[in-house]
Amino acid sequence: MTSSEEKAKSVQVFYASQTGNAESIARNIHKEAVKKGFDSQVYVLNDHEKVGFENVRVGVFVVSTTGDGDPPDNATKFWRVLRRKTRGLKNSKDGANGSSSASLYPNLKYAILGLGDTNYSNFCNTAKVLDSQLKKTGAKEFYPKGLADDGTGLEETVDPWIEKLWDALGKVVELKSESKSDDGGLHKAVSRLKLRDEDSASELSQSVHSEHLPNPQPFFVDYSGMKDIKALTGTPKLPTQSCNMVDAPLSGSELQRNSSSNSASSIDLLAFARDKVVSEYPEFIIPKKGNGTAGDVVESFVPRTGSTPTFLATITSAESLTTELKKDVKRTLLLELDLGETGRKLVNGKWRAGDSFGIWAPNDRLLVTAILDKLGVEVSDMEKPIRLSPIGSDGKNVEHEGSKLPSHLSLFEHTTTTLFELYQWAVDLTSGTGLMKKQLIRYLASACTQVDDRDRLLYLCSRQGLKEWSKFRDQAPRLLDILQAFPSCHPDPVFLIELLPPLVPRAYSIASTPQTTSSSRNGSWKFAFNIVKYQTQVVDPSTNKMIAVSREGLCTPWLDHITGNIAPKTKLSNLKIQIPVFLRARQNDFFLPSPAESGDESPSRPIIMIGPGTGIAAFIGFLEQATNERLCENTDSPPKEPEMILFYGCRYWDHDFLFQSKLEEFKSKGPLSDLYISLSRDEVKSHTFKSLTGSFKSKYVQHEMARPEVAKNLCKLIVDKDALIYVCGDAQGMGKDVNNALADIIFEYLLENPKKANELLSDIHDPGNGMGKDLARQDAEQNVTKIQILQLLMKWIQTKKYRRDLWA
Ligand code: NAP
Repeated sequence: MTSSEEKAKSVQVFYASQTGNAESIARNIHKEAVKKGFDSQVYVLNDHEKVGFENVRVGVFVVSTTGDGDPPDNATKFWRVLRRKTRGLKNSKDGANGSSSASLYPNLKYAILGLGDTNYSNFCNTAKVLDSQLKKTGAKEFYPKGLADDGTGLEETVDPWIEKLWDALGKVVELKSESKSDDGGLHKAVSRLKLRDEDSASELSQSVHSEHLPNPQPFFVDYSGMKDIKALTGTPKLPTQSCNMVDAPLSGSELQRNSSSNSASSIDLLAFARDKVVSEYPEFIIPKKGNGTAGDVVESFVPRTGSTPTFLATITSAESLTTELKKDVKRTLLLELDLGETGRKLVNGKWRAGDSFGIWAPNDRLLVTAILDKLGVEVSDMEKPIRLSPIGSDGKNVEHEGSKLPSHLSLFEHTTTTLFELYQWAVDLTSGTGLMKKQLIRYLASACTQVDDRDRLLYLCSRQGLKEWSKFRDQAPRLLDILQAFPSCHPDPVFLIELLPPLVPRAYSIASTPQTTSSSRNGSWKFAFNIVKYQTQVVDPSTNKMIAVSREGLCTPWLDHITGNIAPKTKLSNLKIQIPVFLRARQNDFFLPSPAESGDESPSRPIIMIGPGTGIAAFIGFLEQATNERLCENTDSPPKEPEMILFYGCRYWDHDFLFQSKLEEFKSKGPLSDLYISLSRDEVKSHTFKSLTGSFKSKYVQHEMARPEVAKNLCKLIVDKDALIYVCGDAQGMGKDVNNALADIIFEYLLENPKKANELLSDIHDPGNGMGKDLARQDAEQNVTKIQILQLLMKWIQTKKYRRDLWA
């Protein structure tokens, strides 16, 4: 900064967060900035308009990446606006002013902290794209970007990045006030902590067992390394609390709700929790302001991220699609939702086959009860009416001063709630430490009364305990498991809600289409999913014995439970079970182009669909849409039906082949021209469809695609007939492998077709090989490289020829 440039008066911290990590880091940066004397505000990126983004002088961005390199839901609006504004602008060199493109935000100075995971493709894509987009606007980076990898531990990058941020920030933002001391000396105490080196520290492992319901699950940590350590370093700062609870008087309707839901203050805990479960279809009480009829908008749950507010839809049927005859077959359910009148109005005209929706699922009541009990909350206090009250920088409660609460709690601001409700609906109690932050462990350490417990937790979140931290995270213990393992840990139940991972809605593809001949179907969504509930074996290192540990997801076991855990391969109809849902904002262009959108040509472009497992769900919608379009075809003019090809994979023909009869029908009656099946665990034998007979030898979809005769046909469609390629399913394994397989088969095809190679690769150069060479004048056969083909696939993603809906 030149001396003539004035420092900004304040800093704005922005976050784009899917699971709450980026938000929590952004809020901590904001809090620390305030403590250090900066004037700071913190905002979710989608609030850019409210903030007046064009006037922001210094911005710190903490952004995560989801799915296939997409921005989180709460940044999609900002993303669209930024892309629209920068479309056609060139990158200004180093963000310097001077070109016409550099006039959009010439006064903005920014720093970006990206969160991602190198196990998935497009690592930290949101941060990288944000950086290049901001550069295009003429904004200048004042502090180099940090890219944190959740695969190896976010804190490895996050902590040092934040530590050095303050110097850089001091050069561009002026201090408003004197810096305040950070955590009352506790942090120093940690770095000077002298660990005792006898018995407990040298003990090999710690296990947790309990006979009570729900069972705390064991996890193992090797603390033996502690005895050689003189002092711990790198432990996170003790977080500061942003709110506490105050008693709240009950309003009339709340009184009614409470009296119908809470019958007991004197009965024992398990009975208390069980009492809430109605035998046939267990009920749950949604914290909301509506009166509970289908289609009601659930005001307390309105997410800022959806394309509609949250509303109540009714599950009308449930079908189990898999057998239980094989141990390694996942249980898959297909549910149908009636959106109700309000839901229909909300989604009307806004969705199409390929879209997805979100479900808010509560934590299990028994688990909530067990945790609150462990936290020392009396049964009579679990459902006592309270309000959350934000704490100001002077440590006093601030009322009516706008939201100072983390966003997962702001849903409950200004309403009367209960601890039970907050634990059931605000935080994720099942996802385990996979989503937990070291800061939470740091806080839990400070809440221990026994030195043993405290030291072990501090070790876990220290630099010295890094290896054990990663093993601990891999075992994903839940809060209940941790509280059981550290019995002297008595954290404050309200502070804990701030630090736990927020409860986020779960997303599912809609396996149906709005375009249907029967108009009633316009108001229904179908969706299919696996029940995430399994047992893993962990080894107790002290005994070398294997111990079975149960793990389960949040939403899918709940859906299974409320639909009555139906028997395999059966269907229940006439159900009436309400759940809170919303239509998600569209993340990508995962839909079939309609003639109106892409000109008359596009419906005749072949469609290649690749979707193993529940990735098939979206394609069922596509195929229904194509079927409907066929029915609506004007018989006078010849139909322009696209060739549609599907690659589907499952484990066994007889046990988890989802939508088998539907696919059979699509294949025998159309619109499916070819159906390729791969079976990953079945023995090779002959199976018969009416329209498809054969022995299915490929293990995975990409192996089927690579079979010479299939690959040749595929390439002809892709290269010669300009087919559209759609891939849906798992981002981590399948998405990457299918991309590589596509690159391989196109590579082989182009080697044999140099003319086509010239055409397709004329503007794509391999920096390591063909860089700068004009392929038109070269012998293509020697110049086609794998890197070029991978770049070609990237180009096809940009031009929407190749569309992916990949989920982590
Ligand atoms: P899955 O576990 O991915 O298994 C389906 C088949 O794919 C199995 O035969 C499996 O074989 C095989 N497979 C495993 N690794 C593979 C790889 N690297 N390449 C190709 N095939 C591979 O199926 P799923 O459990 O149903 O999961 C599907 C994914 O789709 C999940 O990530 C889910 O989040 C996502 N998704 C779900 C929806 C929805 O609406 N429910 C929508 C879109 C996407 P083995 O297991 O025998 O190795």
